[in-house]
Amino acid sequence: MATVKDYADITGQSVIDELFILGDRASRLKIQHVNSTAVGGGVAEILTRLIPMFCQLGVTSTWDVIKGGDRFYLITKKMHNALHGVDVTFTQDEFDYFLQINRENSESIVFDSDVVFIHDPQPIGLVDVRGKRDSKWVWRCHIDFSEPKEQIWLFLKNYIEKFDSAIFSAPAFSRSIATRQVLISPSIDPLSDKNKDLDQNYIDSVFNKYKIDRSRPIITQISRFDYLKDPVGVIQAYKQVKRYIDCQLVLAGGGATDDPEGEKVLADVNKAADDDKDIFILLLPPSSDLEINALQRGSTVVMQKSLREGFGLTVAEALWKSKPVIASAVGGIPLQIKHKYGGILTHSIEGTAYWIKQLINEPKYAAELGKNGYEHIRQNFLITRQLRDYLLLALSFYTDSDIIDL
Ligand code: UDP
Repeated sequence: MATVKDYADITGQSVIDELFILGDRASRLKIQHVNSTAVGGGVAEILTRLIPMFCQLGVTSTWDVIKGGDRFYLITKKMHNALHGVDVTFTQDEFDYFLQINRENSESIVFDSDVVFIHDPQPIGLVDVRGKRDSKWVWRCHIDFSEPKEQIWLFLKNYIEKFDSAIFSAPAFSRSIATRQVLISPSIDPLSDKNKDLDQNYIDSVFNKYKIDRSRPIITQISRFDYLKDPVGVIQAYKQVKRYIDCQLVLAGGGATDDPEGEKVLADVNKAADDDKDIFILLLPPSSDLEINALQRGSTVVMQKSLREGFGLTVAEALWKSKPVIASAVGGIPLQIKHKYGGILTHSIEGTAYWIKQLINEPKYAAELGKNGYEHIRQNFLITRQLRDYLLLALSFYTDSDIIDL
C-alpha cells in the first residue's frame, strides 16, 4: 500500500510536508470513525484509505462499523431516501427501533477517543453516549441535503445539534442549525487500485473478459443499483443515442451491505435493458477495484446520471483518468464539473443523450474536457486534501495546552 510520502509526485512536496507538520501536532489525539458498512459505497471507499494514512502521520485512528439487521437497514434506507426528497413517512415505532439499535451499538463500541466522526444518519444516535473523556463529536454528512423531507429533518436535527460540529460535502447542503458547520468535500485516492495507472494489456483483458467490443463507443456508469443513481434513465438516454450511433452501454455496480433495495432496482434495470446485447449489466463483487479502474479507463464517455448525489466519487474517479464525464447537475457534482470546461452537466434524459452524441462525435473536444477535469480533481479532490481538512478540524477543537494535557 502506498505511503503518504508517495503522494508527493502528484501533489508536490509542500502538501506532504504540511501533512506531517499537522500530524505531528495532532499526534496526541485519538481519532475514531463510525459508519454503517465496511464495503460498498463512497464512505467505506474513503475510510479504507484514510485510516492507514492518519496512522502513518502518527495520529491514532480507528474505524468501527455499527451492526443492524434487515429491519434497521430498511428504516435507514427509507431515511436516506426521505433525506433525498422521496415522499415517505415514518412511524414512531420505526424511530424507536432505529434508536434502540443505536443504543445497542453504543454498548458494544468503545468510545475512548478524543474526536469521534459519526458518518451519515445510520449511527447518529450514538452521540447520546459520549465517552468518559471530554471528547469532541463531529457528524459527517455525505448525503445530498438540499431538500430533505420535513419529518426526517426534524428528527435528525435534534441529534445533529448534539454534535460539536457538522460537516457537509457542498455549500448547498448547509442548514439552519445550532451547530458549527464545516464544508469538507470527499476525495479520491490517486494511488489506490481504483485509481492508479494501469497497464493497457490489463485494461484490454477486462473488456475481453466481459466481451465488450472496444472498436465501438462505450458509455459507462459505475454505481450501486440504486434508484437515485437513475440507471434506468441511463438506459433511456443510451437508447436515444443508439438510434444514431452504434454504441454500447456498461452499467457496472454491486451492492452495499446497508442498502436493501439493490435487487429490486436491478430487476427494473434488466427489464429496461430488454435483452439488448449491447447493454452490459455487470454485477461486481466488492473486490473489483482494478476492474472498475479498467472499465473507467477504457470507456469513451463516463456517466453519472444521479437524481440526487452527496458528492459522487465516481465523477472524480473518471475525471482523474482524464475521461469526458457527463453527469447530472445535482448535489456535489457541480463542485467537480465546470460545465463545458471540465465535463458536462445535464438536467434531463434528452440533454444527456444529446451530449453523449456530441462527445462521441467530437473526440478532440471530449479529450479537452477530460484533461481539464483531471487537473481540477488533482487540485481539489485528492485524499491528501481531505486528510489535511480532517486534521485541521480535529485540531481546531483544542488549544496547544489542551493537547499537551491529553
Ligand atoms: N463502487 C464500487 N463498486 C461498485 C459500485 C461502486 O467499488 O459496484 C465504488 C465507486 O467506484 C465509488 C464508490 O463505490 O468509489 C461510490 O461512491 P459514490 O460517491 O459515487 O456513491 P455512493 O455509493 O456513496 O452513493
